[in-house]
Amino acid sequence: VLVVRHRMRNSGKCARAVAILKEFEEKCGTPIGKLKQVADAMDVEMHAGLASEGGSKLKMLISYVDNLPTGDEKGLFYALDLGGTNFRVLRVQLGGKEKGVAHPEFNEVSIPPHLMTGSSEALFDFIAAALAKFVDSEPEGFHPPPGRQRELGFTFSFPVRQTSIASGTLIKWTKGFSIEDAVGEDVVRELTKSMEKIGLDMRVAALVNDTIGTLAGGRFHNPDVIAAVILGTGTNAAYVERAQAIPKWHGPLPKSGEMVINMEWGNFRSSHLPLTEYDQALDAESLNPGEQIFEKIISGMYLGEIVRRVLLKMAEEAEFFGDTVPPKLKIPFILRTPDMSAMHHDASSDLKVVGNKLRDILEVSNTSLKTRKIVVQVCDIVSTRGARLSAAGILGILKKIGRDTVKVGEKQKSVIALDGGLFEHYAEFRSCLESTMKELLGNEAAETIVIEHSNDGSGIGAALLAASHSQYLGVEES
Ligand code: BGC
Ligand code: MG
Repeated sequence: VLVVRHRMRNSGKCARAVAILKEFEEKCGTPIGKLKQVADAMDVEMHAGLASEGGSKLKMLISYVDNLPTGDEKGLFYALDLGGTNFRVLRVQLGGKEKGVAHPEFNEVSIPPHLMTGSSEALFDFIAAALAKFVDSEPEGFHPPPGRQRELGFTFSFPVRQTSIASGTLIKWTKGFSIEDAVGEDVVRELTKSMEKIGLDMRVAALVNDTIGTLAGGRFHNPDVIAAVILGTGTNAAYVERAQAIPKWHGPLPKSGEMVINMEWGNFRSSHLPLTEYDQALDAESLNPGEQIFEKIISGMYLGEIVRRVLLKMAEEAEFFGDTVPPKLKIPFILRTPDMSAMHHDASSDLKVVGNKLRDILEVSNTSLKTRKIVVQVCDIVSTRGARLSAAGILGILKKIGRDTVKVGEKQKSVIALDGGLFEHYAEFRSCLESTMKELLGNEAAETIVIEHSNDGSGIGAALLAASHSQYLGVEES
């Protein structure tokens, strides 16, 4: 009798867990009709954001990049990429059309977490010190000519209101950063102050968002690149707009007739987005409540955390991991997206990887195969929603610039440069994004619209933009 009762209890609980799963799946649904509504809403908000400052949640920031790399860029340049969990420094020798990008050298430094929420000075001092160390390792024969200042492309992957190509004030922090005293400050001035303090003589020639860097790096390799999307810790997109289509731009009309726009699409929000109670709670408890809603359901910083929240609910309401709730499961952000990805891709018949992850991260052992399967389904639901919504966002951009349909006989390719760890390392996410693009565009258009992985385009792109905005332009190389 006891055994039977126990089984009945268990099956009742399992049914409850499955009910939670089903409800979640339903709320996360992204049928094609909904994705098209999201794309249309994106298009509408893009217009509104371009019309006036503050006209939309989409900031549609003017980058001051009105010329993308041509391939003629020459000289030794540095780049610095700040925005995820790591920051990178890069040195590259640009050799024009014949020699291209030569001898790129990178160094990656992880940012101590306390610096992400400390003071502006501490963060920029740390960055300047790492940069100085990297400059010291400049090989013999690679030094700039005497009297010539080193120049830097600064990739700063947060929303910035630019005042020129090489200056701009921080609008707000996103992702895991929150440093009050930096908001409203010119980040180039902050970095320059820290460099001067330690005697590092370097000039920031270009301040760019990572999307802009990726667009520039992508265009250098492929002239058909018209937009760039980052799917990493955070998410965002940039694209080439006609200057005439930017009513809020009151500056001189660029010769090229074009201006690159940093959309800051992470802050997109629409009633068409499929949001759940888990997303609402995640947002409310985040560093930036009410902000970056699109980012919070798409990007790498949050996907694992959404999965954790769903599992926690199952543990609390359906004894999903046994009769007590695993204490570790209550810790925010303990389940990282790379771990989620590893579980999602587990191809073993007994879902061994899932079992090991649950044991190592949540300290729950002896999970049943049924339990593991449900965990994989949660991962699948969360990543599918993110990937399909990213595709809808891209469709929105294509609509805005009239490239979502192909005219008969047209062979003009539209290439979108993609970068970021989520896109690069989460295979299921990436293939879902790609197949959803095809589903949305139809076969014909899908042939002319190409998604291209641009590997560290943003660092090289920033160096290229530093070169095209060098103070020594036109000065003979010695
Ligand atoms: C930032 C963007 C950035 C994106 C990808 C977002 O959180 O607001 O500026 O491009 O992350 O790094
Ligand atoms: Mg990055």
